[in-house]
Amino acid sequence: MGLLIMTALSPLAIVPFVSVDNMMRLVHHIGVETFLTELAAYVEEDFRRWPSFDKKPRVASHSHDGVIELMPTSDGTLYGFKYVNGHPKNMREGRQTVTAFGVLADVGNGYPMLITEMTLLTALRTAATSAMAARHLAPKGARRMAIIGNGAQSEFQALAFRALLGIEDIRLYDIDPVATAKCVRNLAPLGFRLTACRSTEEAVEGVDVITTVTADKQCATILTDNMVGPGVHINAVGGDCPGKTELHRDILTRSEIFVEYPEQTRIEGEIQQLAPDHPVTELWQVIAGETRGRSSDRAITLFDSVGFAVEDFSALRYVRDKLTGTNFFEELDLLADPDEPRDLFGMLQRAKG
Ligand code: NAD
Repeated sequence: MGLLIMTALSPLAIVPFVSVDNMMRLVHHIGVETFLTELAAYVEEDFRRWPSFDKKPRVASHSHDGVIELMPTSDGTLYGFKYVNGHPKNMREGRQTVTAFGVLADVGNGYPMLITEMTLLTALRTAATSAMAARHLAPKGARRMAIIGNGAQSEFQALAFRALLGIEDIRLYDIDPVATAKCVRNLAPLGFRLTACRSTEEAVEGVDVITTVTADKQCATILTDNMVGPGVHINAVGGDCPGKTELHRDILTRSEIFVEYPEQTRIEGEIQQLAPDHPVTELWQVIAGETRGRSSDRAITLFDSVGFAVEDFSALRYVRDKLTGTNFFEELDLLADPDEPRDLFGMLQRAKG
């Protein structure tokens, strides 16, 4: 744990580092649902100023078992990137499917200002973004949600939907009942009304929102067309790579589709199953009031979430702001800092024996 109390931006050569341990302390210090609500406000603020970001599809390195990705963006003042992996088989080997860390830097001098774990932060930012999108797209008065896939991301999704939309009635399904039991164990003490279901069909019965957050490295069909009635909002989180989708194509053609960044989502999202010119709406335009969200009470809305760099940037910005006045970080000796900037070698020599 850092000895320093962070009162303002760190001195240039010291980089605050937030470990997993400190991230957990920070989240509990703030409160998980407050954290999700405040983080969603940061994400929303950045979506509202979307055109000011330097954007590109993430740089993905695919392999047989998964993917490693770099996700950079900048608003001209700050620069952020995240390193993240996605390996569905990891869970069976006792590892996380998704792990991440990230950096926030000062565009003016290129110096990193923050380095942080982002495995927890990704789960939080993904859930905050999902719920923020649903607040704009889900039917008014939505009260029940199905969560299909009850792994690492699932409780965060439940908490964000309660914090932002007041949804407490959750129907759970996973092909592995152990995952559903874990989810019930974690959420029941928090006051949710939970129903553990034996199939996806059973889980989606009578719900207003369907969250799919499964992990499988294939074009899966978690939802078929007959499972999705009019007026439902689908929060599709698990399909986020080429050849890795969750929804039957027929659902897509019936839905009003909202995406983060079309150039990336057409490669990675559910819409990789559609023609490259199939119409989609950019979520930021709804948030900025430039276009409408759902067209009617009976429309099916789909947030085809893949996760975009701006959301990580918002999360990094939020964590940097919340560290102020706390000691939930360590000081990292990451940057060489010779007394005379050009005497880097001299600094090395002086450190000898
Ligand atoms: P996880 O491995 O912890 O959990 C996935 C769960 O899905 C497992 O419990 C597994 O049994 C279940 N599952 C697999 N196939 C299923 C099926 N056919 N029906 C029901 N359940 C099924 O993974 P996680 O960390 O919770 O991540 C879930 C997915 O979300 C991954 O695909 C990941 O890549 C994706 N993700 C997306 C974003 C985003 O921004 N869109 C962010 C983070 C993670």
